[in-house]
Amino acid sequence: MSDLAPDLSEPISAAMPQRHPTLQARVAWGSRVVTIGGNAPVRVQSMTNTDTVDVIGTAIQVKELAQAGSELVRITVNTPEAAQAVPAIREQLDRMGVDVPLVGDFHYNGHTLLTEYPECAIALSKYRINPGNVGKGDKRDRQFAQMIDVAVRHGKAVRIGVNWGSLDQELLAALMDENARRPVPWEARQVMYQALVQSALQSANWAEELGLPAGQIIISCKVSGVQDLVTVYRALADRCRYPLHLGLTEAGMGTKGTVASSVALGLLLQQGIGDTIRVSLTPQPGESRTQEVVVALEVLQALGLRSFNPSVTACPGCGRTTSTTFQELAKQIDDHLRAMMPVWRERYPGVEAMKVAVMGCIVNGPGESKHADIGISLPGTGESPAAPVFIDGQKAMTLRGEGIAEEFHRIVESYIERRFGAITDAHRSPIADR
Ligand code: SF4
Repeated sequence: MSDLAPDLSEPISAAMPQRHPTLQARVAWGSRVVTIGGNAPVRVQSMTNTDTVDVIGTAIQVKELAQAGSELVRITVNTPEAAQAVPAIREQLDRMGVDVPLVGDFHYNGHTLLTEYPECAIALSKYRINPGNVGKGDKRDRQFAQMIDVAVRHGKAVRIGVNWGSLDQELLAALMDENARRPVPWEARQVMYQALVQSALQSANWAEELGLPAGQIIISCKVSGVQDLVTVYRALADRCRYPLHLGLTEAGMGTKGTVASSVALGLLLQQGIGDTIRVSLTPQPGESRTQEVVVALEVLQALGLRSFNPSVTACPGCGRTTSTTFQELAKQIDDHLRAMMPVWRERYPGVEAMKVAVMGCIVNGPGESKHADIGISLPGTGESPAAPVFIDGQKAMTLRGEGIAEEFHRIVESYIERRFGAITDAHRSPIADR
């Protein structure tokens, strides 16, 4: 054997992220709490795009986002009217049985709104403060302190949310001056990274000095470039233990926004960085706001960090199966499982981690189906018209004829009933944490 031959005797370790250790924030409303950071699962957040003054419209969208899987929902609080609407939105959500905390997004006038509308300050569970939009000069510190003081008095969590589109200009100017004095100045991009990280961490330290517990401070530094985001969050993770909120800002629309966000969040989460995520998608005309939640859940599920819905594995199809039968069946099964999950989540604990395979021919069909909890291998072109079904790795039956799809549906349902129906609360899967 040559010296260069690989050693194949060693086991291959599985790639699983080691979570970067962080403190744990408690986001409370009434007697209910969502934790962020520490050993809490990576949380999914979203943001409404309704006018907050529209109490019913906003409450309905919050409900949709929560039902889609968002565990915290942020709303804009930009005017006195919006601040007055917040308690009414909270009440409406409670009446509708929507169990999700509201986060208030403040810019420029948050100090005034939180002070002059105490009911708003109480109804919100967490405040997002952008240090670049708090005020200038002396006013900045005073107004920032005013907001932190409200958070301390009401026991609220705060996200110090820096965004490179609204970076603290005074800090940036000071860092650029400092850079100009260096014998070998840094690149402009490195100064920008430094400004983002410093703005977040200096504001967080200042908030702690003002009495906000460190664990109640969540940090974000959002940028719109994937590599910039990875760079900045790695620097944050090296320098602090505050829970980190991840998100690629202005990710864009459709495929571009989805891919950019998924790659950015995936790269960081795989390094164990990130305690809560938001996917900032621009909805396509007519598209539901909930798409950003769907993508966030899929990112966490694809990484194996959490399970929300049973996953359907389907092959891409190729020249060996020219019919669309398996595509249609995979879609039907996927749609059905998703539609049933609001009911099944309670009735069949653990079902969210189930794996179903729908495959197009004999090449990979039986193998992939055996790896799933339940799988079907449909006949490819020229193969005998039979579809073996595999349950828990064993061939259980072979379906034939016209009604294969309906029969497979029934088999999946009875498998779910049999396997997950008997699970009591005491045996709930630890990943069924919603
Ligand atoms: S399982 Fe069969 S049909 Fe599907 S991609 Fe592989 S070879 Fe093609």
